Amino acid sequence: MLQAVSTGSFPIDRYTPVVGEDQIRRLRELAEPLKGRRIAHINATSYGGGVAELLRATVPLLQDLGVDASWQVIHGSAPLFEVTKGFHNALQGASYDLTQQARETYLEANRRNAALLEHDYDFIFVHDPQPAAMANFSSNGKATWIWRCHIDTSHRDPEVWGFLEPYLQDYQVWIFTLPEFVPPGLPPDDGVSIIHPAIDPLSPKNMPLTPELQQRILQWVGVDTDRPLMVQVSRFDPWKDPLGTLEVYRRVRDSVPGLQLAMLGHLAGDDPEGGRIFAQVKKEAGDDSDIHLFTNYTAASSVEVNAFQRSADVVIQKSIREGFGLVVAEAMWKGAPVVGGRVGGIPLQMPEGVGGVLVDNVDDAAHWTQRLLMDREERDALGQAGQQHIRQHFLIPRYLEDELRLLNALLDGGSLG
Ligand code: UDP
Repeated sequence: MLQAVSTGSFPIDRYTPVVGEDQIRRLRELAEPLKGRRIAHINATSYGGGVAELLRATVPLLQDLGVDASWQVIHGSAPLFEVTKGFHNALQGASYDLTQQARETYLEANRRNAALLEHDYDFIFVHDPQPAAMANFSSNGKATWIWRCHIDTSHRDPEVWGFLEPYLQDYQVWIFTLPEFVPPGLPPDDGVSIIHPAIDPLSPKNMPLTPELQQRILQWVGVDTDRPLMVQVSRFDPWKDPLGTLEVYRRVRDSVPGLQLAMLGHLAGDDPEGGRIFAQVKKEAGDDSDIHLFTNYTAASSVEVNAFQRSADVVIQKSIREGFGLVVAEAMWKGAPVVGGRVGGIPLQMPEGVGGVLVDNVDDAAHWTQRLLMDREERDALGQAGQQHIRQHFLIPRYLEDELRLLNALLDGGSLG
């Protein structure tokens, strides 16, 4: 068996006050034809990173809507995740030495996991590259296989892509976050769908927290809630540019007395780079007691992330590549102004002047961070606009609606065309 993640079900009606009755009614109508159909979502980790976040939010709602959805995680070893993180990086534009050993490690793990997939499913969603070759090795013949790519593949390494592409041809549908991520020549046009991710406004990460509770959480982990605070929430990953964020803090701190920087980073189960990058950031931070670094071993759980994003004077996310960047929507939802990299999904969710500012380098990031830290009115105006924008476009019921529409189109051999 793959590792089933038990989520239970969560009542969709709870979202009515947030998104309105019409959307909830549409979700019920769209779920109706899918009752009795079996859906599996397969990915590489149950925690740490946006995919786990999305599945944790949607699977319980699908269940409540009467759809038989499950979430299953592949079995993987350290060598497998070294290879798949290398693939992930290569698909985002890094170089990678694709050895015979790496190919074999990847294919063998996919073969083994495919054999562990039980039951017949109507639809199987496979998320990201780690389990992507499972469709090739599975005997689950009647299912419609859907590959959901969450990463920015617009600068993909041709060798790694060339290796994966034949396995991706076994899918009937490919979902990307942005049209510019769709590699030319892969899927026939009527097999591609573009779906933008979204955040769950009712999860512990995004639910309302009183200012008093926020303060208690931050104070408990040693942050001074009377002084200004910059926050980054991200896996410790080169694409999230944690060293760039440290540099921004350093350039700004002299003009913002008492400034603190908090960086929270899950060490995800499928990301062996996390520990290495964390050590590098820690070394670089040195003995500056105003830099607070947290991992999931110390303080990076959902409620803590929530409290930090809500308490931040500026949230910084100057990624170098970004599939979507749920953390940006999370911060905007809380009214925190974001200084975000102009890459991947960040401009999609944060148009110029709505929720924050887009930057191209450390200089811009330092300029804007300093300006926002010193101008409360500007921060508040940006934050309010951002919150509205997320409410309209990036909450989980809309995401679920997109997914259910797609499944309806595919029912009984249908296509997206
Ligand atoms: N996250 C978290 N704790 C951390 C770091 C990240 O809970 O210490 C969460 C974060 O709140 C967000 C997700 O992990 O929900 C990261 O998703 P995103 O799309 O921003 O980036 P990814 O890690 O998928 O590249």
